[in-house]
Amino acid sequence: MKCRRCSELAQVRLPSHHTGFCASCFETYFLRQVERGIHEHKQFSKEDRLLLAVSGGKDSLGLLLALSKLEYDVTALHIDLGIPVSSQSARSTVEAYCAAHSIKLHVLETTEKGLPIPEVKKRVNRPICSVCGKIKRHWFNRFAYENGYNVLATGHNLDDEVARLFANTLRWDQAYLAGQGPVSPAEGRFVRKVKPLCRLTEYETAVWCFLNGIEHVLAACPYSAGASFTGHKKLLADLEERSPGMKMQFYEHFLQRGKPAFQAIRAEAPPLNECARCGYPSSMEVCGVCRIKEQLEA
Ligand code: SF4
Ligand code: ZN
Repeated sequence: MKCRRCSELAQVRLPSHHTGFCASCFETYFLRQVERGIHEHKQFSKEDRLLLAVSGGKDSLGLLLALSKLEYDVTALHIDLGIPVSSQSARSTVEAYCAAHSIKLHVLETTEKGLPIPEVKKRVNRPICSVCGKIKRHWFNRFAYENGYNVLATGHNLDDEVARLFANTLRWDQAYLAGQGPVSPAEGRFVRKVKPLCRLTEYETAVWCFLNGIEHVLAACPYSAGASFTGHKKLLADLEERSPGMKMQFYEHFLQRGKPAFQAIRAEAPPLNECARCGYPSSMEVCGVCRIKEQLEA
């Protein structure tokens, strides 16, 4: 197969686009897809103060590089969860990467906030990944809000988005379906959330990282067996193989045709309260994160 842009030998085959690229044209393709996702969904501009949640995995590090190459003013935020081995490994990977590329980095430790994840796991009788996810989302948003960043970006790619959409659809979860997409607008103490990799697959992001020599975290989280959507992703990969381009179509048609209907339903829901402890939005009197903290302090 020949590269679509320059006719040299293609090194990266992309069946969903019925095409392939050489390494250098793949770089151009990848950056254009990031830009297209940002512009098409009005995610942010060069005037915005952008904070990127960086876990140390390939998606967030790959996105950090892409945004720097596209000359966005991006600052990284890493959350150290206090999990033996994997948190140290993730943190040192992110610190080394940001130092090597002169990218501004903040590190927030959940232990300092009274929420070391191993302790949370011992005390909370729920799947740890959903609790850990809740704590991370709370602190990413809170850090952005309190430090003057108006946009918070994450490295979720098309596969993550489609798997989540599929899970939400299986449950017909109206609230989640109303909120899902590459942009969640700012509201009260919620800053705008964006997903600049929404047009790129896990495979494309992995190729981008490989071609750019990005070394991502290798020590897996010891609790990762509970990570969600693995089964859904396999199912969707099978569908994509039979019908290339299906994932993108499912996602884009949802955004155009499905989401507005769920947003109309959501508009009738009562507004969120302010958490009586931390002041951040909550559907109950005290938010989920403050309740976990209370449990640990008891
Ligand atoms: Fe947290 Fe689960 Fe991810 Fe581990 S695998 S970092 S517990 S969300
Ligand atoms: Zn709270």
